[in-house]
Amino acid sequence: MSETAAEVVICGAGIGGVAAAYHLVKRGITRVVLVDERPALSLTSDKSAESYRNWWPGPGDSMVALMNRSIDLLEELARESDNVFLMNRRGYLFATAQPEQIERYVRAAAEAATLGVGPARIHRTPGGDYQPAPATGYEGQPTGSDVITDRSLIRRHFPYLADDTVALLHARRCGWFSGQQLGMYMLERAREKGVRLIEGRVERVQTAGGRVTGVTLAGGRTIGTARFVNAAGPYVKDVARLLGVELPIFCERHAKVAFHDTLGVVPRHAPMMIWTDPVRLHWTEEERAELAQSDSHRYLLDEMPAGVHGRPEGGGDSPIMLGVWTYDVEPMEPRFPLEFDPAFAEIVLRGLARPIPGLNAYLSRLPKYFVDGGYYTKTRENRLLSGPLPVEGAYILGGLSGYGMMSSNGAADLLADYIADRPLPRYAPAFHLDRYDDPAYRASLEEEADDGQL
Ligand SMILES: Cc1cc2nc3c(=O)[nH]c(=O)nc-3n(C[C@H](O)[C@H](O)[C@H](O)COP(=O)(O)OP(=O)(O)OC[C@H]3O[C@@H](n4cnc5c(N)ncnc54)[C@H](O)[C@@H]3O)c2cc1C
Repeated sequence: MSETAAEVVICGAGIGGVAAAYHLVKRGITRVVLVDERPALSLTSDKSAESYRNWWPGPGDSMVALMNRSIDLLEELARESDNVFLMNRRGYLFATAQPEQIERYVRAAAEAATLGVGPARIHRTPGGDYQPAPATGYEGQPTGSDVITDRSLIRRHFPYLADDTVALLHARRCGWFSGQQLGMYMLERAREKGVRLIEGRVERVQTAGGRVTGVTLAGGRTIGTARFVNAAGPYVKDVARLLGVELPIFCERHAKVAFHDTLGVVPRHAPMMIWTDPVRLHWTEEERAELAQSDSHRYLLDEMPAGVHGRPEGGGDSPIMLGVWTYDVEPMEPRFPLEFDPAFAEIVLRGLARPIPGLNAYLSRLPKYFVDGGYYTKTRENRLLSGPLPVEGAYILGGLSGYGMMSSNGAADLLADYIADRPLPRYAPAFHLDRYDDPAYRASLEEEADDGQL
């Protein structure tokens, strides 16, 4: 294929752009050029915690429907590739020590069932028929969620959790996989069918008569095309400006820590665990006095937000645990390289030690750890954008936030339906940029709502 003309040019070879190329090829559109100024999958898409879930809040069932479709596609890919990206189905285990949360868990499970997450199973007695998830594989597993409120059942299956844990909600169509392996698998399949990956920076998008006609890269090379997909990750807003389009998108910095659980505190077969209670970190008197003097870290003496979470990472003899805690995010311009608070690893470990007290053993001397991260590129209501832009022939696949690995197949499948002029799924309007033209939708954004971010 000549590089001077293409049916579709995609800017960005992160998981969004790669998935877009893959799903265009699946619809017979193979004259596709992927342009990236960096190596494929290297900016945000290799910083993810690589987890997936169909557990998403409303309003409406669009997020659940899109995510179910995305997970269907991930499962298809896992089947055809002999699970080269090691997809598992261990689930997300939400946990609380607050008795008043018990019935909230029961209600959340019932509400999730109405959104399409799958059935709610409540286990209130020691003999409850709760089935734990297998460590590997994804086939033949239940959907929906299990709520366990019997303390002996909790202890039997999750003895490493704090003794005062009173309820668990185990969401089942959830787990994790290798995002790099997934991305490389899709990229290779797309390239086999003719997709070209070009190194370069998209600097201009030409239009004539209000329609896309070509894309110019740094250095002046131009690719003629009638269709352009903006999948530029944290730079999606800048790239949209090349078309004169202003996107309601912002970035937040997010980090994760990988630490060595050499004492084996968390069993290697454990699911993802999310503590849904706020946490007060444990400090000695001396540490308290020191923190009280610190302008940057005094807040660590206060109650910290709910949501600290973690999971084992890697197979075989891997001792690695991943930990994430979103306690201090704010909108910012994306700048690289990112810098993280040197105390982040310790803060996350201390947070995780609340639900998993065995981790306290590491607090006097931190284990080996590694912190990295990137930007969540988000819309205000944390719903991605997939579909046409207001310039004929221009499209977006962006705003993938903290869920781009799990959603990119669903989002790219939707985008490819637009480009191939196929019938659209019923959830399409929820991810179209023109939703913001609806005053009722804009007004709904003023209401405080759970945006599903963990
Ligand atoms: C700490 C952390 C944890 C996360 N955990 C999860 C998780 O558990 N599950 C999950 O599903 N998701 C998770 N995510 C989110 C996920 O990683 C992202 O949503 C996803 O990687 C975004 O992919 P992308 O393709 O949109 O962007 P990127 O991967 O950033 O790719 C965008 C590409 O566009 C290129 N580009 C930009 N501008 C130009 C230009 N002008 N010319 C040429 N190329 C350009 C860039 O070089 C880049 O390669 C996490 C993210 C972070 C930071």
